[in-house]
Amino acid sequence: MLFFRKKNDDKQRPRKEVLLSRKSADGIITYAKTWHPYEGILILKGKSRKADITIDGLVVPPFSSHGPYYSGFPVYDLPFDLSYIGTAHSHPGSSNNPSLEDLNNYFGLVSIIINYPYDDTTIAAFDRNGERFTLRILPSDDKRTS
Ligand SMILES: [Zn+2]
Repeated sequence: MLFFRKKNDDKQRPRKEVLLSRKSADGIITYAKTWHPYEGILILKGKSRKADITIDGLVVPPFSSHGPYYSGFPVYDLPFDLSYIGTAHSHPGSSNNPSLEDLNNYFGLVSIIINYPYDDTTIAAFDRNGERFTLRILPSDDKRTS
């Protein structure tokens, strides 16, 4: 007997790529280092298109709180802005996997996590389900983020 399982459409759709401007990547790295050993959190500004999500700006959230295992901000204090497409936060530990808390407090379309020692290789991007996006850091002269 054969069982046919319905294929998951989600898996077949090509995944969006997350494109991070060099300046934003550097901003996230610097911010994470500044808050170490606490977590730091930033709001990401950018655009979502068919094939990719472009991140080209950072906003320090108002009234954010920071701790060794927690960082956050009251979403209701944010001005309504359609260019806010997600958050970036740091993990002072050795993993950039989203925690359950991170997924429960998901904001926007993309969540970037950077872990210690905070460089290009420890930055990752996740969707609402905790699945990784392909993340590319664009060279500073890339037109898409100028
Ligand atoms: Zn986290």
